[in-house]
Amino acid sequence: MTDHDDPLFGAALDTLAIRGGIHRTAEGEHSEPIFATSSYVFDSAADAAARFSGEQPGNVYSRYTNPTVRSFEERIAALEGGEAAVGTASGMSAILSTALALLKAGDHIICSRDVFGTTTNLFGKYLAKFGVEVSTVPLLDIAGWKAAIRPETAMLFLETPSNPLCEVADIAAMAELAHANGALLVVDNCFCTPALQTPLALGADIVVHSATKFLDGQGRCVGGAVVGRQEHMTEVVTFLRTCGPTMSPFNAWVFLKGLETLRLRMDAHSAAALEIARWLDAHESIGRVYYAGLESHPGHALAARQQRAFGGVLSFEVQGGQEEAWRFIDATRIFSLTANLGDTKSTIVHPATTTHGRLSDEQREAAGIRRSLVRLSVGLEDVADLKADLQRGCDAL
Ligand SMILES: *Cc1c(COP(=O)(O)O)cnc(C)c1O
Repeated sequence: MTDHDDPLFGAALDTLAIRGGIHRTAEGEHSEPIFATSSYVFDSAADAAARFSGEQPGNVYSRYTNPTVRSFEERIAALEGGEAAVGTASGMSAILSTALALLKAGDHIICSRDVFGTTTNLFGKYLAKFGVEVSTVPLLDIAGWKAAIRPETAMLFLETPSNPLCEVADIAAMAELAHANGALLVVDNCFCTPALQTPLALGADIVVHSATKFLDGQGRCVGGAVVGRQEHMTEVVTFLRTCGPTMSPFNAWVFLKGLETLRLRMDAHSAAALEIARWLDAHESIGRVYYAGLESHPGHALAARQQRAFGGVLSFEVQGGQEEAWRFIDATRIFSLTANLGDTKSTIVHPATTTHGRLSDEQREAAGIRRSLVRLSVGLEDVADLKADLQRGCDAL
Protein backbone atom coordinates (compact mmCIF):
# COMPACT_ATOMS: atom_id res chain seq x y z
CA MET A 1 0.00 0.00 0.00
CA THR A 2 1.42 3.39 -0.90
CA ASP A 3 0.93 6.20 1.57
CA HIS A 4 -1.74 7.71 -0.65
CA ASP A 5 -3.87 4.56 -0.47
CA ASP A 6 -3.90 4.80 3.33
CA PRO A 7 -7.14 6.51 4.47
CA LEU A 8 -5.12 8.13 7.27
CA PHE A 9 -2.53 9.64 4.91
CA GLY A 10 -2.40 13.36 5.67
CA ALA A 11 -5.03 13.02 8.43
CA ALA A 12 -5.16 15.54 11.27
CA LEU A 13 -3.91 14.85 14.79
CA ASP A 14 -7.42 14.27 16.16
CA THR A 15 -8.05 11.54 13.59
CA LEU A 16 -4.64 9.89 14.02
CA ALA A 17 -5.03 9.89 17.82
CA ILE A 18 -8.20 7.83 17.52
CA ARG A 19 -7.74 5.83 14.30
CA GLY A 20 -3.95 5.41 14.03
CA GLY A 21 -2.39 1.98 14.58
CA ILE A 22 -5.58 -0.09 14.55
CA HIS A 23 -5.16 -3.73 13.45
CA ARG A 24 -8.48 -5.58 13.61
CA THR A 25 -8.58 -9.33 14.12
CA ALA A 26 -11.02 -11.75 12.47
CA GLU A 27 -13.31 -11.30 15.50
CA GLY A 28 -14.34 -7.86 14.22
CA GLU A 29 -13.81 -6.04 17.52
CA HIS A 30 -14.32 -2.27 17.42
CA SER A 31 -12.10 -1.25 20.35
CA GLU A 32 -8.41 -2.23 20.28
CA PRO A 33 -7.84 -5.69 21.80
CA ILE A 34 -5.23 -6.46 24.47
CA PHE A 35 -2.97 -9.29 23.34
CA ALA A 36 -2.06 -10.72 26.75
CA THR A 37 0.34 -13.33 25.45
CA SER A 38 4.05 -13.85 26.01
CA SER A 39 4.56 -16.00 22.90
CA TYR A 40 2.93 -17.03 19.60
CA VAL A 41 2.34 -20.41 17.95
CA PHE A 42 3.47 -21.44 14.47
CA ASP A 43 1.63 -23.58 11.91
CA SER A 44 4.57 -25.89 11.24
CA ALA A 45 8.23 -26.40 12.03
CA ALA A 46 9.09 -24.77 8.71
CA ASP A 47 6.88 -21.80 9.59
CA ALA A 48 8.64 -21.47 12.98
CA ALA A 49 12.05 -21.53 11.30
CA ALA A 50 10.97 -18.86 8.79
CA ARG A 51 9.63 -16.58 11.54
CA PHE A 52 12.77 -16.99 13.65
CA SER A 53 15.06 -16.23 10.71
CA GLY A 54 12.98 -13.17 9.85
CA GLU A 55 12.22 -14.56 6.38
CA GLN A 56 8.53 -14.51 7.23
CA PRO A 57 7.11 -11.51 9.09
CA GLY A 58 5.06 -12.17 12.22
CA ASN A 59 5.16 -12.40 15.98
CA VAL A 60 7.53 -14.72 17.84
CA TYR A 61 7.70 -13.52 21.43
CA SER A 62 6.36 -10.42 23.22
CA ARG A 63 9.80 -9.13 24.19
CA TYR A 64 10.21 -8.70 20.40
CA THR A 65 6.76 -7.69 19.19
CA ASN A 66 3.20 -7.59 20.49
CA PRO A 67 0.21 -6.38 18.44
CA THR A 68 -1.17 -4.09 21.19
CA VAL A 69 2.25 -2.52 21.71
CA ARG A 70 2.62 -2.18 17.94
CA SER A 71 -0.70 -0.30 17.76
CA PHE A 72 0.53 2.14 20.40
CA GLU A 73 3.85 2.56 18.57
CA GLU A 74 2.14 3.30 15.26
CA ARG A 75 -0.25 5.77 16.87
CA ILE A 76 2.42 7.75 18.74
CA ALA A 77 4.69 7.73 15.66
CA ALA A 78 1.82 9.19 13.60
CA LEU A 79 1.11 11.88 16.20
CA GLU A 80 4.77 12.94 16.49
CA GLY A 81 5.22 12.78 12.70
CA GLY A 82 8.02 10.21 13.03
CA GLU A 83 8.81 7.32 10.68
CA ALA A 84 8.63 4.81 13.55
CA ALA A 85 8.30 4.53 17.32
CA VAL A 86 9.28 2.05 20.01
CA GLY A 87 7.28 1.49 23.23
CA THR A 88 9.31 0.99 26.40
CA ALA A 89 8.69 -0.07 30.00
CA SER A 90 9.08 3.49 31.37
CA GLY A 91 10.18 6.97 30.38
CA MET A 92 13.60 6.23 31.86
CA SER A 93 13.98 3.09 29.74
CA ALA A 94 13.09 5.18 26.66
CA ILE A 95 16.04 7.45 27.47
CA LEU A 96 18.31 4.53 28.41
CA SER A 97 17.45 2.61 25.22
CA THR A 98 18.08 5.67 23.03
CA ALA A 99 21.45 6.28 24.64
CA LEU A 100 22.69 2.68 24.68
CA ALA A 101 21.46 1.94 21.15
CA LEU A 102 22.99 5.03 19.54
CA LEU A 103 26.09 5.88 21.61
CA LYS A 104 29.41 4.10 22.18
CA ALA A 105 32.37 4.45 24.54
CA GLY A 106 34.28 7.65 23.75
CA ASP A 107 31.16 9.56 22.70
CA HIS A 108 30.14 12.77 24.43
CA ILE A 109 26.64 14.03 25.32
CA ILE A 110 25.59 17.57 26.17
CA CYS A 111 22.55 17.53 28.40
CA SER A 112 20.46 20.44 29.59
CA ARG A 113 20.93 21.03 33.32
CA ASP A 114 17.17 21.52 33.57
CA VAL A 115 15.99 18.00 32.66
CA PHE A 116 14.20 15.42 34.83
CA GLY A 117 16.58 14.64 37.75
CA THR A 118 16.77 10.91 37.05
CA THR A 119 17.88 11.67 33.47
CA THR A 120 20.86 13.58 34.87
CA ASN A 121 21.68 10.57 37.09
CA LEU A 122 21.31 8.11 34.23
CA PHE A 123 23.81 10.02 32.09
CA GLY A 124 26.18 11.09 34.88
CA LYS A 125 26.28 7.86 36.88
CA TYR A 126 25.65 4.98 34.47
CA LEU A 127 26.65 6.10 30.96
CA ALA A 128 29.81 7.63 32.47
CA LYS A 129 30.76 4.13 33.77
CA PHE A 130 30.88 2.91 30.17
CA GLY A 131 33.01 5.72 28.82
CA VAL A 132 30.34 8.14 27.58
CA GLU A 133 31.18 11.61 28.86
CA VAL A 134 28.47 14.09 29.77
CA SER A 135 28.55 17.88 29.96
CA THR A 136 25.68 19.72 31.60
CA VAL A 137 24.65 23.19 30.44
CA PRO A 138 21.77 25.46 31.51
CA LEU A 139 18.94 25.08 28.97
CA LEU A 140 19.05 28.68 27.69
CA ASP A 141 22.85 29.22 27.80
CA ILE A 142 23.46 29.00 24.03
CA ALA A 143 27.09 30.11 24.39
CA GLY A 144 27.52 27.32 26.95
CA TRP A 145 26.12 24.69 24.54
CA LYS A 146 28.46 25.92 21.80
CA ALA A 147 31.47 25.93 24.11
CA ALA A 148 30.73 22.39 25.32
CA ILE A 149 30.78 20.90 21.80
CA ARG A 150 33.73 18.58 21.07
CA PRO A 151 34.63 16.42 18.07
CA GLU A 152 33.21 13.39 19.99
CA THR A 153 29.87 15.09 20.74
CA ALA A 154 27.23 12.68 19.41
CA MET A 155 24.05 13.84 21.14
CA LEU A 156 22.39 16.98 22.50
CA PHE A 157 19.59 16.21 24.96
CA LEU A 158 17.00 18.66 26.28
CA GLU A 159 13.51 19.06 27.68
CA THR A 160 11.30 22.04 26.79
CA PRO A 161 9.45 23.56 28.55
CA SER A 162 11.67 22.81 31.54
CA ASN A 163 10.57 21.59 34.93
CA PRO A 164 9.78 23.39 37.21
CA LEU A 165 10.48 26.90 35.82
CA CYS A 166 8.90 26.45 32.36
CA GLU A 167 11.91 27.79 30.44
CA VAL A 168 11.48 27.43 26.68
CA ALA A 169 14.28 26.33 24.33
CA ASP A 170 14.30 27.10 20.59
CA ILE A 171 14.13 23.54 19.19
CA ALA A 172 14.90 24.59 15.58
CA ALA A 173 18.00 26.54 16.67
CA MET A 174 19.20 23.65 18.86
CA ALA A 175 18.68 21.20 15.97
CA GLU A 176 20.76 23.44 13.73
CA LEU A 177 23.53 23.57 16.34
CA ALA A 178 23.49 19.77 16.72
CA HIS A 179 23.53 19.09 12.98
CA ALA A 180 26.28 21.64 12.26
CA ASN A 181 28.42 19.54 14.59
CA GLY A 182 27.37 16.07 13.43
CA ALA A 183 25.31 15.35 16.55
CA LEU A 184 21.72 14.21 17.08
CA LEU A 185 19.17 16.35 18.91
CA VAL A 186 17.01 14.34 21.33
CA VAL A 187 14.00 16.12 22.90
CA ASP A 188 12.03 14.85 25.90
CA ASN A 189 8.51 15.94 24.85
CA CYS A 190 6.81 14.82 28.07
CA PHE A 191 5.42 18.22 29.11
CA CYS A 192 3.87 19.28 25.80
CA THR A 193 3.11 15.94 24.12
CA PRO A 194 2.49 15.94 20.34
CA ALA A 195 -0.85 17.64 20.99
CA LEU A 196 1.04 20.90 21.71
CA GLN A 197 4.50 20.52 20.14
CA THR A 198 6.12 18.27 17.52
CA PRO A 199 9.92 18.55 17.87
CA LEU A 200 10.64 16.32 14.83
CA ALA A 201 8.93 18.89 12.57
CA LEU A 202 11.26 21.55 14.05
CA GLY A 203 14.37 19.52 13.19
CA ALA A 204 14.91 17.28 16.24
CA ASP A 205 16.09 13.76 15.37
CA ILE A 206 14.48 11.81 18.20
CA VAL A 207 11.63 12.40 20.66
CA VAL A 208 11.47 10.51 23.95
CA HIS A 209 8.42 10.28 26.19
CA SER A 210 7.41 9.29 29.63
CA ALA A 211 3.98 7.93 28.67
CA THR A 212 3.33 7.78 32.41
CA LYS A 213 2.40 11.47 32.41
CA PHE A 214 0.06 13.19 29.92
CA LEU A 215 -0.08 10.36 27.34
CA ASP A 216 -1.82 8.13 29.90
CA GLY A 217 -3.34 11.20 31.49
CA GLN A 218 -4.97 9.43 34.40
CA GLY A 219 -2.00 8.24 36.44
CA ARG A 220 -2.53 4.50 35.89
CA CYS A 221 0.55 3.03 34.19
CA VAL A 222 4.30 3.52 33.80
CA GLY A 223 5.65 3.46 30.24
CA GLY A 224 7.65 5.33 27.63
CA ALA A 225 8.28 5.79 23.92
CA VAL A 226 11.06 6.71 21.50
CA VAL A 227 10.09 8.23 18.12
CA GLY A 228 12.24 9.10 15.11
CA ARG A 229 13.69 7.90 11.83
CA GLN A 230 13.60 4.21 10.90
CA GLU A 231 17.42 3.89 10.91
CA HIS A 232 17.55 4.97 14.57
CA MET A 233 14.43 3.06 15.67
CA THR A 234 15.85 -0.17 14.20
CA GLU A 235 18.82 0.23 16.57
CA VAL A 236 16.54 1.01 19.53
CA VAL A 237 14.34 -2.04 18.78
CA THR A 238 17.39 -4.30 18.59
CA PHE A 239 18.57 -2.98 21.96
CA LEU A 240 15.12 -3.55 23.47
CA ARG A 241 14.81 -7.11 22.13
CA THR A 242 18.20 -7.94 23.57
CA CYS A 243 18.09 -6.07 26.87
CA GLY A 244 14.39 -6.32 27.62
CA PRO A 245 12.78 -3.09 28.91
CA THR A 246 9.72 -3.58 26.67
CA MET A 247 6.24 -2.13 27.20
CA SER A 248 3.57 -4.45 28.59
CA PRO A 249 0.51 -5.05 26.34
CA PHE A 250 -1.89 -3.95 29.07
CA ASN A 251 -0.03 -0.65 29.53
CA ALA A 252 0.07 -0.15 25.75
CA TRP A 253 -3.71 -0.52 25.68
CA VAL A 254 -4.14 2.07 28.46
CA PHE A 255 -1.89 4.49 26.55
CA LEU A 256 -3.83 3.87 23.30
CA LYS A 257 -7.00 4.90 25.14
CA GLY A 258 -5.17 7.87 26.68
CA LEU A 259 -4.05 9.11 23.25
CA GLU A 260 -7.67 9.23 22.03
CA THR A 261 -8.43 12.11 24.39
CA LEU A 262 -4.95 13.66 24.39
CA ARG A 263 -5.70 16.88 22.52
CA LEU A 264 -8.93 17.56 24.39
CA ARG A 265 -7.14 17.02 27.68
CA MET A 266 -4.06 19.09 26.75
CA ASP A 267 -6.27 21.98 25.65
CA ALA A 268 -8.26 21.77 28.91
CA HIS A 269 -5.10 21.46 31.05
CA SER A 270 -3.60 24.46 29.21
CA ALA A 271 -6.71 26.65 29.54
CA ALA A 272 -7.05 25.89 33.26
CA ALA A 273 -3.31 26.40 33.92
CA LEU A 274 -3.40 29.79 32.14
CA GLU A 275 -6.38 30.93 34.19
CA ILE A 276 -4.71 29.83 37.43
CA ALA A 277 -1.36 31.39 36.45
CA ARG A 278 -3.09 34.76 35.82
CA TRP A 279 -4.97 34.49 39.11
CA LEU A 280 -1.80 33.69 41.05
CA ASP A 281 0.10 36.45 39.23
CA ALA A 282 -2.43 39.01 40.48
CA HIS A 283 -2.51 37.62 44.04
CA GLU A 284 -0.82 39.67 46.77
CA SER A 285 0.42 36.59 48.69
CA ILE A 286 2.22 35.19 45.65
CA GLY A 287 5.59 36.28 44.25
CA ARG A 288 6.82 35.33 40.80
CA VAL A 289 4.75 32.98 38.66
CA TYR A 290 6.58 30.79 36.13
CA TYR A 291 4.35 29.90 33.17
CA ALA A 292 5.13 30.58 29.51
CA GLY A 293 1.50 31.49 28.90
CA LEU A 294 2.00 34.75 30.83
CA GLU A 295 3.11 37.64 28.59
CA SER A 296 5.67 38.55 31.28
CA HIS A 297 7.46 35.18 30.96
CA PRO A 298 10.75 35.53 29.00
CA GLY A 299 9.88 32.44 26.91
CA HIS A 300 6.37 33.62 26.02
CA ALA A 301 6.94 34.70 22.40
CA LEU A 302 8.97 31.59 21.55
CA ALA A 303 6.45 29.27 23.23
CA ALA A 304 3.59 30.99 21.38
CA ARG A 305 5.42 30.25 18.10
CA GLN A 306 6.63 26.75 18.90
CA GLN A 307 3.71 25.32 20.88
CA ARG A 308 -0.05 25.14 20.24
CA ALA A 309 -0.73 26.03 23.90
CA PHE A 310 1.30 26.39 27.08
CA GLY A 311 0.63 23.11 28.90
CA GLY A 312 -0.60 22.12 32.34
CA VAL A 313 2.44 22.67 34.58
CA LEU A 314 3.36 25.92 36.33
CA SER A 315 5.33 27.11 39.35
CA PHE A 316 5.18 30.10 41.67
CA GLU A 317 6.94 31.55 44.69
CA VAL A 318 5.03 32.25 47.88
CA GLN A 319 5.96 35.32 49.94
CA GLY A 320 8.50 33.88 52.40
CA GLY A 321 10.61 30.71 52.26
CA GLN A 322 10.35 26.96 52.78
CA GLU A 323 8.21 27.21 55.90
CA GLU A 324 5.58 29.27 54.04
CA ALA A 325 5.73 27.02 50.96
CA TRP A 326 5.12 23.95 53.13
CA ARG A 327 2.28 25.69 54.97
CA PHE A 328 0.70 26.62 51.64
CA ILE A 329 0.96 23.03 50.35
CA ASP A 330 -0.36 21.48 53.57
CA ALA A 331 -3.39 23.81 53.59
CA THR A 332 -4.65 22.71 50.15
CA ARG A 333 -7.24 19.92 50.23
CA ILE A 334 -8.10 19.20 46.60
CA PHE A 335 -4.59 19.26 45.06
CA SER A 336 -2.84 15.89 45.65
CA LEU A 337 0.56 16.20 47.30
CA THR A 338 2.59 14.03 44.91
CA ALA A 339 5.53 14.47 42.56
CA ASN A 340 3.58 12.99 39.65
CA LEU A 341 2.11 15.22 36.96
CA GLY A 342 0.01 15.03 33.83
CA ASP A 343 -3.03 13.57 35.58
CA THR A 344 -6.71 14.55 35.50
CA LYS A 345 -6.15 15.11 39.25
CA SER A 346 -4.29 18.34 40.06
CA THR A 347 -1.03 17.84 41.95
CA ILE A 348 1.16 20.08 44.09
CA VAL A 349 4.78 19.63 45.20
CA HIS A 350 7.71 21.49 46.82
CA PRO A 351 10.54 21.00 44.29
CA ALA A 352 13.42 22.11 46.58
CA THR A 353 12.79 19.26 49.05
CA THR A 354 11.43 16.56 46.70
CA THR A 355 12.07 16.43 42.94
CA HIS A 356 15.15 18.68 43.23
CA GLY A 357 16.06 17.71 46.82
CA ARG A 358 19.28 15.93 45.91
CA LEU A 359 20.86 19.06 44.46
CA SER A 360 23.20 21.08 46.69
CA ASP A 361 22.01 24.52 47.80
CA GLU A 362 24.44 26.09 45.29
CA GLN A 363 23.18 23.92 42.41
CA ARG A 364 19.59 24.73 43.27
CA GLU A 365 20.37 28.44 43.59
CA ALA A 366 22.10 28.39 40.17
CA ALA A 367 19.06 26.66 38.66
CA GLY A 368 16.77 29.30 40.19
CA ILE A 369 14.80 26.80 42.27
CA ARG A 370 14.16 28.67 45.51
CA ARG A 371 12.80 27.23 48.77
CA SER A 372 9.70 29.40 48.33
CA LEU A 373 8.84 27.66 45.03
CA VAL A 374 5.72 25.50 44.63
CA ARG A 375 4.92 23.49 41.46
CA LEU A 376 1.43 22.65 40.23
CA SER A 377 0.23 20.25 37.58
CA VAL A 378 -3.23 21.55 36.82
CA GLY A 379 -5.78 18.75 36.31
CA LEU A 380 -9.28 18.77 34.93
CA GLU A 381 -11.32 19.63 38.05
CA ASP A 382 -13.45 22.79 38.07
CA VAL A 383 -11.12 25.80 37.96
CA ALA A 384 -13.11 27.78 40.53
CA ASP A 385 -12.71 24.87 42.98
CA LEU A 386 -8.97 24.77 42.30
CA LYS A 387 -8.65 28.54 42.88
CA ALA A 388 -10.59 28.20 46.14
CA ASP A 389 -8.17 25.44 47.17
CA LEU A 390 -5.14 27.62 46.34
CA GLN A 391 -6.79 30.42 48.35
CA ARG A 392 -6.69 28.03 51.36
CA GLY A 393 -2.92 27.90 50.77
CA CYS A 394 -2.69 31.71 50.62
CA ASP A 395 -4.77 32.04 53.83
CA ALA A 396 -2.26 29.80 55.65
CA LEU A 397 0.73 32.05 54.86
C1 LIG B 1 8.61 11.33 34.63
C2 LIG B 1 9.56 11.82 33.62
C3 LIG B 1 10.53 10.97 33.06
C4 LIG B 1 10.69 9.55 33.51
O1 LIG B 1 9.60 8.76 33.15
P1 LIG B 1 9.13 7.44 33.94
O2 LIG B 1 7.99 6.99 33.14
O3 LIG B 1 8.82 7.84 35.34
O4 LIG B 1 10.29 6.50 33.90
C5 LIG B 1 11.35 11.48 32.06
N1 LIG B 1 11.25 12.77 31.67
C6 LIG B 1 10.35 13.61 32.19
C7 LIG B 1 10.29 15.01 31.71
C8 LIG B 1 9.48 13.18 33.19
O5 LIG B 1 8.59 14.03 33.72
